[in-house]
Parts: sequence; C-alpha cells; structure tokens
Amino acid sequence: MRAEDELDFLKEKERAGLLKVGVQTVGDLLAFFPKRYEDRRQFDAFPAQAGGEPLCLRATVVDSMQKRFGAKKGFYEVVLEQIGGCDVFGGGTLSCRWFNMPFVSKMVAVGHEVIVYGRVKDSGGRLIIEHPEFEIVEGGDSLHLDRVVPIYRGVSGLGQRKLRILIARVLEEVEEDSLAAGYDVDRSYPRAEAFREIHFPDSLEQTEAARRRFALEEFFEMQLKVLWRRRRHDELRGQQQGQKTALLGEFYESLPFDLTEAQKRSVREIIADMRSARAMNRLLQGDVGSGKTFVALCAMLMAVDSGKQAALMAPTQILAEQHWLTFCKWLQPLGVKVGLLTGARDEEATGADILIGTHALIYDRAEFERLSLVVIDEQHKFGVLQRGRLIQQGVAPDVLVMTATPIPRTLTLTIYGDLDVSVLDERPAGRGKIVTGVRVKPKISDVTKFLKEELAKGRQVYLVYPLVEGSESVKAQAATIEFPKWQKRFKNYEVELLHGKMPPEEKDSVMGRFRENETQVLVATTVIEVGVDVPNANVMVIWNAERFGLAQLHQLRGRIGRGEHKSYCVLSNDGKSGQEKLAVMAETDDGFKIAEADLKLRGPGEVLGTVQSGLADLKFAEFLADVEMVREARRLADDVLSKDSSLETYPRLRALVSG
Ligand code: ADP
Ligand code: MG
Repeated sequence: MRAEDELDFLKEKERAGLLKVGVQTVGDLLAFFPKRYEDRRQFDAFPAQAGGEPLCLRATVVDSMQKRFGAKKGFYEVVLEQIGGCDVFGGGTLSCRWFNMPFVSKMVAVGHEVIVYGRVKDSGGRLIIEHPEFEIVEGGDSLHLDRVVPIYRGVSGLGQRKLRILIARVLEEVEEDSLAAGYDVDRSYPRAEAFREIHFPDSLEQTEAARRRFALEEFFEMQLKVLWRRRRHDELRGQQQGQKTALLGEFYESLPFDLTEAQKRSVREIIADMRSARAMNRLLQGDVGSGKTFVALCAMLMAVDSGKQAALMAPTQILAEQHWLTFCKWLQPLGVKVGLLTGARDEEATGADILIGTHALIYDRAEFERLSLVVIDEQHKFGVLQRGRLIQQGVAPDVLVMTATPIPRTLTLTIYGDLDVSVLDERPAGRGKIVTGVRVKPKISDVTKFLKEELAKGRQVYLVYPLVEGSESVKAQAATIEFPKWQKRFKNYEVELLHGKMPPEEKDSVMGRFRENETQVLVATTVIEVGVDVPNANVMVIWNAERFGLAQLHQLRGRIGRGEHKSYCVLSNDGKSGQEKLAVMAETDDGFKIAEADLKLRGPGEVLGTVQSGLADLKFAEFLADVEMVREARRLADDVLSKDSSLETYPRLRALVSG
C-alpha cells in the first residue's frame, strides 16, 4: 500500500464520508489527525457537581428513557453508573441526553459499557451531559482501551472505532518510502514514526512531539509559498529608476510641525525600499494617533515625484473622505492632483496622481496606468483577496500596509512571510493625557453634568453605543433610542446621530459638521472606530463597554487625546462581564500591551480573524505563538529556495507553491 493509493478497499459509503472531510488517499487518511486524545488508562471520577472542564467517564448504562414534548420535540436519556462504583456521592449516577437524535437510542442501551466525554451541567438538581461524545466499549481490542486513544472529527459512515482500526491498518501496511513529504523538516524524527505517534501515541507527551513535527512542516510549506510568491513579484518588477525626493522636501517645508523621530525613521526605511530593486512589502505599525497618515503621504509623494501614481485604500467611506481632505490640504499647494473614489463619490478620480478611496478602487473602474505604490490603511479590515486585487492593478507595485493593531512578529512572519515592519512607537508632541474610568451603571445625571462642564469649555463629545436600533434579543443600549434623550439633555448644543445604516452622503455630512464643530455631541456606533480625527473632541463615553472587544475599545478611545486638551474616556458597563478587559483598558493605553492582553484572552485566530488572515486552513494554528518554530520554518524555506530556486529537485513542493 502506498500513500498515493486510493482507499478503494472501503465501502462506497465510507469512502463518501471520508471524501467529505477531504480524505481521498492513504496519505490523506494519515494526515487526518486526531482532534484530541483520551487517556483511557485512567478515567475521571464521577463529578459531585456541574461545571469545570469536560470529563471523560467510563460507565455502565443502568436505565434509559425516551422523553417527548408534543409531536416532534424530545430527547433520549440514559442513566450512567460509574464502573467499580465508588459510592462516596450517594449513588454516583449521571445522565446523558441527546435531543432530536433518534438513532442514538438504537446504539446505546441498558447493560452497555460506555465511554462518554463532555461538560457536566446541572438540570434541576441532576447532573447531566448533553450530547456527549460517546463510544460503546466492546472490550478485547487494544486500540480503544487502556492506552492514549485518538479522537477524530466526525466522519459519516465511520465511527471512532472503525476509523481507528482503519488508520491502524493503514499505518501497518503503508510503505514508508511513500510517506516522504518532498522535503524533510526533521531528519532526526522519521515521518513514518511521527505518523504512528500522532495517531497511536504511548503517552500524551509523545502526541505533543508528533504534533510539533507536523506543525513545523505546515509552517514550512506556508513560508515556502510566501517566499515563492515574493520572488515572482520581484522578477516582474525589474530595476527601478532613481526615486526623487524633491516634492518631499517641499512638503516638509510646508508642515507647521516636525515629524516625530519615529515618523522620520519610517519614511527613511520606506525611501530605501522604494529605491531598491525588490518591491516594497512593508507593514507600518503604529498606535492610534501615532501619525501613520503622514508617513503614507510622504511615500505617496515620492511615487508622484517619479511620475507614477499612488493609491490609498481605506476601509470606510468616512475614513477615505478624511484622508482625501488631509491630502488635498497639504498636496494641492504642491500641484499634486488628488482624487477620491468611493461608492458614493467620484472627485477628479480620472488622471489623478494620488487616488484615495474605498473598495470602489478595486470594484469600480478606477484607471491606473502608472500605479507604482499601493497603501492599505487598517489592513485587518481587508481580506487577502481584496488586498491582492488592488496590488494587481499595478505592475509589481510597492506595497505599504498600515495598521493600528499591533501584530506579534511571529504572526506577521507567518501571514506575510517577509513583510518588513516599521514601527511608530512615539506619539506626536503636545498631546493631552487620556484619563480612563471604568464605571458600573453610572447615573445619567452625573454623566450629563460632567459632559456639560466639558462642553462649556468648548470641547466636543462622543457617546458610543453597541447597537444601532433596539433589540429584543440583545440586552444593550442603542444609539437611535438614546439619541433623542441626549438632544433633550443638551438643549444648548447641537447633537447628531451617526451609525452604519445611514446612507453614505448623510454620514459624510454629519461627520463634516462634527469636524467643523458645528455639532458638539455625536451619538454614534462603532462607525467612528477607525481613524476619525477631530482633535477638539476630548470626551468619550462608551455604553455597555463590556460588549466591545479590547482592540475595538482601544480603537474607539484613540478618537480622543488627539488635541492638546486633557481627555476623558468613560467605560460604562454592567459590572458583570468583561471586567478583565476593562481593567486592561484602565491600566494602559499602550496598544502593544493591549494587543498582547487581547491575544492572551482570545487567541490568535479570534484576534486577527482567521479567514481574513489566511489562518483558517491551518491545522496547527495553536503553535503560531511559538516564535522559534515559525523562525525555524522560515529558515528551512529560505534554505531550500537558495539551494534550488526553481524547486526542480522537489517536484511535490514545486506543485505546492505553483498550485
Ligand atoms: P493614525 O492614523 O496613526 O491614527 P494620524 O495620521 O491620523 O494617526 O494622525 C493623528 C493626528 O496627529 C492628526 O491630527 C495629525 O495631523 C497629527 N499629527 C501627525 N503627525 C504629527 C506630528 N509629527 N506632529 C504633530 N501632529 C501630528
Ligand atoms: Mg489612521
């Protein structure tokens, strides 16, 4: 039997089930790794109470019943008794329930010995597990008992026991030489052995070693793809003519402030990239308010100075407009043509030197003849595909992505390969301090009084709500409902409403009036989360703050503290959930620290969005936090490509990267 063989000795139904989980060949089957393990040398004791981690119990079924409510609804319940019944908890029974799964009653019956796995809940004083994973013990077979046992994702037509028997058989019969991966990431640990140990390990430690080996392989292949793509990109680009910086000098002269040291350093790094024969592929990472826009502006000016076009893509209409206003203000005096293209507006987009816009840049008929630089703002808002489509409008253009979400180095390496990183770790001078207070259900009259004091000093205020409209299912406040109340409370000021469901032109005009201080109070949703820049606004009250994520709260708070005035952020909350993250917010305004806390609380997939970051397909995403492993994968990929740049001697890898 060889890895590339089809599983034609299986029944049609079984093959169909496997095909649904992507398993077609012997090799695929071996790469169908367990989702978890059960150490069946020792089971958990029957619990005395509900809650805690899921338990793995071995038990006898002593009773069963079918319960029905009405015509259709119902559940099947079995009562379990611990085997060898240590009776300290007065009987020590527990029930399992399956709702609307009639076939289970045909499988599990009184007298059966079972292994069940699941979380224990309390139901009217009784301990139950709903929909446990289960297996009937048939005894005698060394694959399923008295050892560390693999548990797989469900495959229709093949239960856990059958799967185990099948995989054990294949492991036995497969010819080891056919298991080669095209490139061996770890010669000291043969691949065939790792396959045996990931499926049927002697101990839980051994599963870890095997998983690490395959994780390294997965990361290696990912790095190889990234490096391969990068090389093609560079070949397309060829030599660059000297990039000019005359306009840049003029622009510096016209600025009323100095760029921060961090901004200058980033601009220098970008200039070096743009002059190099390799296309720039740089991430500009800087906390909210650190001045990323001006760095981008410098880069774009350089492109224009060399007779090329530059494009900036922003995630929202509001942001695109704001960037456009900023760019017009600084660049029109220098004779640069700045256009705007969004779904709602088209301002001199044709023939512009610099084109700013939203997704419309890729989906509308933006005309790029000389596009040599692409800037993407708040990159985590865009998918890989969208980013790719804009980049393809130019011939191997330079790419600068800007983000306020600090991404740990190991993740940037994994996701973008050799993305270079510039960091803005310094705030422009003359910024007021931000004081953050966490308040449990504050009195409206207190809040109003405080806000009135700030308004009387001439400041402006954001009031942020989690919902646009009231909802029956979600217990949280809504902007449209609270808005008229605020209008009444602030009769002497202009109060306006801003949320994502308003038409784009209306959003623009509301934002425009707030920017001009014609409006003093903005009742809003997270539409203002990203990039909105009104230095005179110095107070933000976030209602139901417990409902927002850490990154979002940080982004929102970044809207204030942009002027010279002392700023205040009030995190009003229900006092129940999310206390940990609110405490983080009160403690620090360092975006990197907040991102680290976020990563700890939620994990990398959640933080970055698995789909957007291309992490969704990773089997071993949990190892992304392992810097050493990611570096090793990178080193291996570099090594292979530097020895054989066209991968001629590695046909499997060649197919992988070009596929
Ligand atoms: P980011 O996009 O990083 O959140 P912006 O580029 O929008 O930040 O800049 C935030 C604010 O700081 C803007 O009002 C901008 O005019 C101002 N700013 C940027 N750089 C400087 C600087 N070097 N000195 C003073 N103010 C600056
Ligand atoms: Mg910005």
